[in-house]
Amino acid sequence: MTVPPRLSVAVPIYNEVSLLPELLQRVGAVLQELPGGPHEIVMVDDGSTDGSRQALFRAAVAEPRLVIVALSRNFGHQAALSAALDHVTGDVVVLMDGDLQDPPEAIPLLLRTHLEGYDVVYARRVRRKEGWLLRASYATFYRILARLSNVDLPVDSGDFGLMSRRVVEQLRRAPERHRYLRGLRAWAGYPQIGVTVERAARAGGESKYSLRKLIALACDGFFSFSVAPLRAAALLGLGAILLSTLFALYAVVARLLLGHSPQGFTALIVVMTFLSGTNLLFLGLLGEYLGRVYEEVKRRPLYVVDQIVRGEAGDAARLGDRPAVEMGH
Ligand code: UDP
Ligand code: MG
Repeated sequence: MTVPPRLSVAVPIYNEVSLLPELLQRVGAVLQELPGGPHEIVMVDDGSTDGSRQALFRAAVAEPRLVIVALSRNFGHQAALSAALDHVTGDVVVLMDGDLQDPPEAIPLLLRTHLEGYDVVYARRVRRKEGWLLRASYATFYRILARLSNVDLPVDSGDFGLMSRRVVEQLRRAPERHRYLRGLRAWAGYPQIGVTVERAARAGGESKYSLRKLIALACDGFFSFSVAPLRAAALLGLGAILLSTLFALYAVVARLLLGHSPQGFTALIVVMTFLSGTNLLFLGLLGEYLGRVYEEVKRRPLYVVDQIVRGEAGDAARLGDRPAVEMGH
């Protein structure tokens, strides 16, 4: 018999105060039923402004399994997830969203599948609850990216899933700033498998991903896992050179044998605007990669920790309702 693993549930929280009680209750109930332990819940407060942080601190008084990593401001979902990954101590880690779209009740299934010998068990989303336009965009994006990327990226899966300790170690080793964790997880390798989990609608509150943030995440996924646009530029350039050589040959032949030169102002304008357009487009793409290189070489930390609070039932509660507080560094 192997020892049942210690589980860490990592959750990023940004302005979810209305959902916290249900979240804590449901995750707590699931952990209660799991063998082994002590399990932990690492919640990263990503600079909430609605009192989520205070609510979490209060919850830590009564919940010994709770660890709260409070960031100094809002750093974004992927940075918050990375902060959570840097602070978990369990043998296996489950990443999930704090809005109950990822049902905590799926955790036992993830764990069972992990024990069958998989280092990564990710939730494949079926029947998403978003509008059809968003759903179609997600589906198209995941498929294009999977095709273009140099890593085998699973389609239709988000960050919700389980990772073994050694996968988490690999993710911690990846120093990149523009993080696309579900891609990095695939990059880490080891046996990986998807299980089907129905993705619920948000339990309350509003999506914290504006269209802009969603597009930024898609770009991070795209540009960190594919250099296809750079190749496309080279291929298009080659094609243009080939065509223009053929046309030059034709012009010489036409002049010498037929006695006239090709004419056409309109064609000239079309070709010129097309080529300068593609030039600028690819210059922009090049700039995108360059900007990312610049961001990476600065090597700024991904997030700044303000405070770490560890839950302590019993003693701490009796000692005047103050959970243990550590200052960040
Ligand atoms: N989140 C975060 N920082 C942010 C935005 C979101 O920590 O800047 C958290 C949010 O609280 C939630 C999770 O990330 O727990 C997923 O966000 P959301 O549900 O808004 O994204 P969606 O499901 O709409 O893509
Ligand atoms: Mg959500």
